[in-house]
Amino acid sequence: MSEARSRQVIIAGAGIAGLTTALSFAVRGYPVRIFERAQKLEESGAGIQLSPNATRILDRLGVLSALRLTAVRPTAVILRDAASLVELGRVPLGAAAEARWRAPYLTLRRSDLQSALLAHVAREPGIELVTGADVRSASLHAHGVTASVETAGGTVRAGGLLLVGADGVWSGLRGLNGSKGKSSFAGELAWRRTVSADSPAAQELIKIGIAGAVTAFMHPGFHLVTYPVRGGSALNLVALTSGSSIAESWSGRMDTAQLKRAMRRTAPALRQLAEDADAWTVWPIHTVAATEPWIATGGIALVGDAAHAMTPYAAQGAAMAIEDGETLAVQVVGRQGTLGAALTAWEKQRRARVAKVVRRGATNYRAWHASGMMARMRNIYLRVHSPERLAARFDWLYGWEPPSLKV
Ligand SMILES: Cc1cc2nc3c(=O)[nH]c(=O)nc-3n(C[C@H](O)[C@H](O)[C@H](O)COP(=O)(O)OP(=O)(O)OC[C@H]3O[C@@H](n4cnc5c(N)ncnc54)[C@H](O)[C@@H]3O)c2cc1C
Repeated sequence: MSEARSRQVIIAGAGIAGLTTALSFAVRGYPVRIFERAQKLEESGAGIQLSPNATRILDRLGVLSALRLTAVRPTAVILRDAASLVELGRVPLGAAAEARWRAPYLTLRRSDLQSALLAHVAREPGIELVTGADVRSASLHAHGVTASVETAGGTVRAGGLLLVGADGVWSGLRGLNGSKGKSSFAGELAWRRTVSADSPAAQELIKIGIAGAVTAFMHPGFHLVTYPVRGGSALNLVALTSGSSIAESWSGRMDTAQLKRAMRRTAPALRQLAEDADAWTVWPIHTVAATEPWIATGGIALVGDAAHAMTPYAAQGAAMAIEDGETLAVQVVGRQGTLGAALTAWEKQRRARVAKVVRRGATNYRAWHASGMMARMRNIYLRVHSPERLAARFDWLYGWEPPSLKV
């Protein structure tokens, strides 16, 4: 086995998890092959929030400066009542976030993030990206791992030290460890839409005071998050309602009756957004049980949604994927020759943090969708806590640094 082969990292999936994991290994001198099932890599125009724990890593990987060209640095997260539109609380972002958490909080289009990651991957001589390549199975053996990959030209076998399953929420590699392998529908639908900042719909929202900020409109059984993307020239909207399971896709279309029902008691400026039925795409929220294994000590690790798809209420799925890639590379590179120990230590470290983030998302869900007494208690809590005190509650999350290697 050649030296390159013995350190080769094989990655299934070129989403946020796969591309950042590839960069994290490559900058440490490990050769990487990424196999991506899609022929062409294209992201939807939907937006994403990147918190400082993620942008800090992207900065280390050299990607942040490219993101700053189109990303927005929002001024605050503002919580509002979706019926009265009254501001209930705020967490300062912008310069305050950068000073507090030592990295920026950004909002941007997913396609801008993916383009920046792909541009860096293309410049990295140690990374080979193969599209139209479906990783179907893998076998562990004395020399490492061999993945079986279906391509237009037939089946390719790729051998290496480690196979990283970054194949997303519908992961086929999740079952490779002998687990059940399926994600489950969380009973919630995410409705997504982008509007131009000068459109009538956006102008109505801007009158409420959403410009330049991340705004969460809270309502019993429903919430809507708005934030600017593309240098502020567009607004990204994400609404969450309960619903039944629909086809697994980033860009499903469906009748907006469910959305209209959930918004019927919200303010007119919000309600009218649901009228424009063609504009919304729907995504079923799926999660992965915390009991599913993430590693096979012989040389397989799952990262990102493949390992721990979570609800989007803490806006941390991609951030956790980025943390996964960086911490995995730190552990594997730092413990050369003891891959099993590296993977075990990595999984232990990551599970504790991911579980805390998942709990944070569940807390947000309860608070944002609360009604009656619960909603009144939430409002009092937000009123008596200053923006700085609210910000301090995120120090563990946004102020996080990749832990140094503990052997
Ligand atoms: C409504 C909503 C809003 C969100 N907002 C935020 C947010 O603001 N901030 C945040 O941090 N996170 C957010 N998230 C979460 C975030 O979008 C995901 O956690 C993240 O995109 C997961 O990235 P991934 O690379 O793990 O998976 P994916 O992006 O799904 O990538 C998986 C890749 O693997 C490929 N693939 C699949 N199978 C194979 C195979 N067998 N062989 C080869 N390739 C394969 C796929 O084609 C795909 O390219 C949100 C999620 C939702 C649903």
